Amino acid sequence: MNLIIFGPPGSGKGTYATRLEAKLGTAPIAMGDIFRDAMKQGTPLGRKVEDYLRSGKLVPDDVVIEVLKERIDQKKGGKGFILDGFPRTIAQARALEKIAKIDAIINLQVPEWIIVARLSSRRICRNCGAVYNILYLKPKKEGICDVCGGPLYQREDDTEAVIRDRIKVYEKQTQPLLEYYKGKVPFVDFNCEELNLPPDTAVAEILKGLKKIGLYKN
Ligand code: ADP
Repeated sequence: MNLIIFGPPGSGKGTYATRLEAKLGTAPIAMGDIFRDAMKQGTPLGRKVEDYLRSGKLVPDDVVIEVLKERIDQKKGGKGFILDGFPRTIAQARALEKIAKIDAIINLQVPEWIIVARLSSRRICRNCGAVYNILYLKPKKEGICDVCGGPLYQREDDTEAVIRDRIKVYEKQTQPLLEYYKGKVPFVDFNCEELNLPPDTAVAEILKGLKKIGLYKN
């Protein structure tokens, strides 16, 4: 099964995609994580994308599509994938059509005040990528990952000004994609109105939605 998870920055895409893997076996492919890893390692890809990520702008389509193709190739033979952060433009969606068939779209809707509140207090494990929040999803030991003991850090683009720019980019470039997919691919909609909704509650709702369209049994 191949899924796309859509939602504004801070809507929980990465958190839910990781948890859905445990239930569905779908491997998360998170475009932003791939770019941040490349930057950390100082690869040619990392150098190419760093200015875009720092300012919250989109990386050019040709670069992103090339990376996606490679990743999907690596996951072949598995139980499918869940795309987080791709496609972000219509050109990317068109390219994806030639690469893989998508079975459903998970569409997360979250109001802007929740996004800003969440992202400005988000912390991420440098080692394994687990996500925390210093206000309500705290690690047991400050600054240390519960899962692997790695150090927690704050993303450079998780500052209020850049968060607001990322939301604008999402509304302008990525939201039109929902229209593009309507009628082509089944949707599972999930509305979040609660700042500190436990991730497991959200994941249970998403699984219910997938069950309704016949993609999940249990
Ligand atoms: P967010 O929390 O804003 O959804 P991501 O980790 O998905 O963050 O992406 C971070 C940044 O990586 C984006 O602001 C953008 O610069 C770049 N990026 C990620 N995915 C794409 C994509 N599909 N197309 C272009 N740029 C992308």
